[in-house]
Amino acid sequence: MSRDFAVGRNAQELFAPGSAASIEAADRAALSSPDGQYRNEFEVDRAGARCMVASIRIVVRNESNKPEFLLIVFEDITDRRSLSQELESTKKFLELVVDNIPVALIVEQVKDGRYLLANRSAETILNRRREETTGLTASDIFNPKEARLIIARDEAAIKKRGMITEEHPISTKDGLRLFLTRRATVLNDAGEPQYLIKTHEDVTDRRQTESRMAHMAYHDGLTDLPNRAAFLQALTQMIEACEGTGEEFAVLCVDLDGLKEVNDVFGHALGDKLLIEVAHRLQDSARGGVVARLSGDEFGLIIDGKQPEAGLALARQIGESVAREFQIDGRPVRAGITTGMSVFPHNGADGASLLANAGAALFRAKQKSRGTISLYQPEMDQQIRDRRVLHQDLSMAVKNGELSLAFQPQGAAGHSVGESEIIGFEALARWQHPVRGQVSPAEFIPIAEESGLIVEMGEWILREACREAASWPKPLQVAVNLSPAQFMHGDVVGLVHSILIETGLAPGRLELEITEGVLIEDFDRGLALLRRLKALGVRISMDDFGSGYSSLSYLQAFPFDKIKIDRAFIINLGRNPQSAAIVRAVIDLGHGLDMSIIAEGVETVDQLAFLAKEGCDGVQGYLLGKPLPIGKYAGLVGRAEAMELALKTG
Ligand code: C2E
Ligand code: CA
Ligand code: CA
Repeated sequence: MSRDFAVGRNAQELFAPGSAASIEAADRAALSSPDGQYRNEFEVDRAGARCMVASIRIVVRNESNKPEFLLIVFEDITDRRSLSQELESTKKFLELVVDNIPVALIVEQVKDGRYLLANRSAETILNRRREETTGLTASDIFNPKEARLIIARDEAAIKKRGMITEEHPISTKDGLRLFLTRRATVLNDAGEPQYLIKTHEDVTDRRQTESRMAHMAYHDGLTDLPNRAAFLQALTQMIEACEGTGEEFAVLCVDLDGLKEVNDVFGHALGDKLLIEVAHRLQDSARGGVVARLSGDEFGLIIDGKQPEAGLALARQIGESVAREFQIDGRPVRAGITTGMSVFPHNGADGASLLANAGAALFRAKQKSRGTISLYQPEMDQQIRDRRVLHQDLSMAVKNGELSLAFQPQGAAGHSVGESEIIGFEALARWQHPVRGQVSPAEFIPIAEESGLIVEMGEWILREACREAASWPKPLQVAVNLSPAQFMHGDVVGLVHSILIETGLAPGRLELEITEGVLIEDFDRGLALLRRLKALGVRISMDDFGSGYSSLSYLQAFPFDKIKIDRAFIINLGRNPQSAAIVRAVIDLGHGLDMSIIAEGVETVDQLAFLAKEGCDGVQGYLLGKPLPIGKYAGLVGRAEAMELALKTG
């Protein structure tokens, strides 16, 4: 307010009632004060704005000592006041923080070693409430021996004027615990040590976890054997010990046979127990040598001595040991091993290549036959590398449009080629590799199956085959091969269903060729999927019949539409009488089960005539036609005629 406005008015007239009242109260207090002075702070409320005012009132008296004026000095302290409130709350806040950090914190005065501050966590170490520690020294709190030790460490930190970190056990009411202690010195303005800040952190649990983790990082959780990482380390140590000494050692890569079957039949819990038992037997046989679990059912061993004799002897020994029947949960369980072996220094200079080469030898051993032992040979390396490169290339093949389909005609078995009417085609995958040229499906399909690529590739093949067949003027059959891997992974039923809808191919024209592998891998699942496929209206045929186990129970379990007699029996038709008997029997068997029979690999007119005579329903083979791009069979699918017709009428 302006001076002119204020002069001549009293507090009531100038301020809000509350403020006016407190001003008047202060005035009265000043008048009645013995020394004629009065200080106070009060809040003034004027036009909605509040401010804090500090004031001093001095009573001015006249000659007769009567109060005549009040001299008042005001100062607006609003800002100062809020600052000090903030400081107050900051202090409380810091106390709260200090008290609640999960580390014991103690501040000591350097000059006399007295404790100035301790937080809540420090109570466990100090064994008393934090308020009670202020002013005490280490000697007041700890026993003489402990106190001497603590004071010595404090002094060392003060002398260093920096941070000292130590880890040591401290006995607390919870027992002996491991603490990480840090001592930091705080200097005053003159650069002299003034305070010592000590923190103690209980790291007992952390250290335990760390050591457990260190163990876990190098051990297999199930068998407690060293894992692959530890095995590689052991190999490196072994190499360092043998390098330049002429000493040899062997690396065995051991694959446990039968684990999958045990898991499937008895469940994974029993499979796990089998692995533990096998680990024990391997350790017993290795007599203190390194035994590690490299992956699911793969173990690694290191054996020194003259090679390959020592390694081969150990491999035979563990083979015999594992072959002895196991008793697990009261059940007899059988297993076996297949072994690959590499030798230092001949098969590798470092751990990784020794192990990789033992793995390559194992791969070869498994291909040969389960239960064998195979020694690494350099050419194996090349084969595996080739396979790996081929796999990489294959993963790009679909995207790069390198895959195509060849179609091979299937005919009704007539007594001559001319009488064998074409009823459909089998679609066969072809891969035109940019560098290698044509790669046989016998080579790339297994690679695709192993890596799971077959799912993506199989989808492409199925779509392409159905699309092609749907475009034929004649409604012929199209047969597509499905691999067991497509049944194990991926949604084969959903895929077939959506491709049929997408391409508009009548379900009755699609025939899916499966091998018994589908039922061997997982019988219940395989059967359920086959039933659902059949429910879509497609036909299912059993491919390569006679080449594998050809369990008759599969034929009984599922109503296949067709049986394809394996090429091997047809080739031998003219050569050995057994083949003719088998072919005859399969035809009868199939007809008895209401299934139609088609013979694969028919190359000669004699074979065709024999099959027709025996009542075989269909034939497929080079005699009727090789697998070729569909353009070569345009006439058979009705395209050339359609063209002619179009030309004539057009
Ligand atoms: P498969 O299903 O038994 O196919 C028949 C194989 O026999 C084909 O070999 C075919 O070219 C060959 N063949 C046909 N007629 C004759 C003949 O008269 N004499 C001789 N010696 N051979 C004949 P291909 O095309 O090399 O396929 C080999 C295997 O690769 C197939 O055997 C099948 O198991 C697999 N395969 C081929 N394409 C695919 C596919 O698209 N998907 C899947 N999952 N597998 C496929
Ligand atoms: Ca086939
Ligand atoms: Ca076949």
